[in-house]
Amino acid sequence: MSQPDKPLLGGIEAGGTKFVLAVGHSPTEIFKRHEIPTRDPATTLAEASEWFESQRPISALGIASFGPVDLDGSSPRWGHITNTPKPGWSNCDVAGYFTKRFGVPIGFDTDVNGAALAEYQYGAGKGASSLAYITVGTGIGGGLVFDGQAVHGAAHPEMGHIFPRRHGDDREFKGICPHHSDCLEGLASGPAIKARWGPSLSELPADHKAHEIIADYLAQLAHSLIAMTAVETIVFGGGVMKTAGLLERVNHRTSELGATYFPGGSKHKIVSPGLGQNAGLAGALMLAPSD
Ligand code: ZN
Repeated sequence: MSQPDKPLLGGIEAGGTKFVLAVGHSPTEIFKRHEIPTRDPATTLAEASEWFESQRPISALGIASFGPVDLDGSSPRWGHITNTPKPGWSNCDVAGYFTKRFGVPIGFDTDVNGAALAEYQYGAGKGASSLAYITVGTGIGGGLVFDGQAVHGAAHPEMGHIFPRRHGDDREFKGICPHHSDCLEGLASGPAIKARWGPSLSELPADHKAHEIIADYLAQLAHSLIAMTAVETIVFGGGVMKTAGLLERVNHRTSELGATYFPGGSKHKIVSPGLGQNAGLAGALMLAPSD
């Protein structure tokens, strides 16, 4: 229940197909949510603002956005979506729009970093030192949290664009990434699966070789993450991961690839999101600056 004496936080999970909006006292006390389709920036941002204006005033806002985004606090383009293939959204000043409209402190990060923070704090990563959140859907992206902080370097990671070793039964397909052709996203995202085989992975028969091929590529990402960061918990979410048996296949293939080599042993876990569909939204609320 909303308590009028407690500050109200706003959260936006800004996705390529929909914006999910929420108000709550904390990431675990969300009491109103609302979804709007992602259209052009002017329409979408105005519609989101109008919904927040119809609520009790918010004291801070967290935005977990599709990317790529500028996260450099010293950059004049902080809070912008940068160079996206999504029509109209390149160079969109998302954080600035809401700052102007509401005049409240704003936190901003990628959708996957938001989801990683929420899973680390409240979901599948409870008690773990570190967590990676991978989404496999229209694209493939990943966020990484160590000691409660999302990892940022010069910008945010782009884990979906690593180059996996090609599967022996998948040598011909060129891949669909406009930047790298056969990077992981170019080979294993939802559109890459449809480009090769027609239907989605969950529509293909359970004995179709696509299941093994996609699991192999995703397992290579898990293997690389463990090799490079020793991350403890890896969460796989997103539409493609709803395919029956896929997570189990990824788990199995990752242990085949790594055998018993990694010193973290059984501490490394590959799991489904503990927060289900709410990871992104809870993450957005976690990004809202609180004092
Ligand atoms: Zn790529």
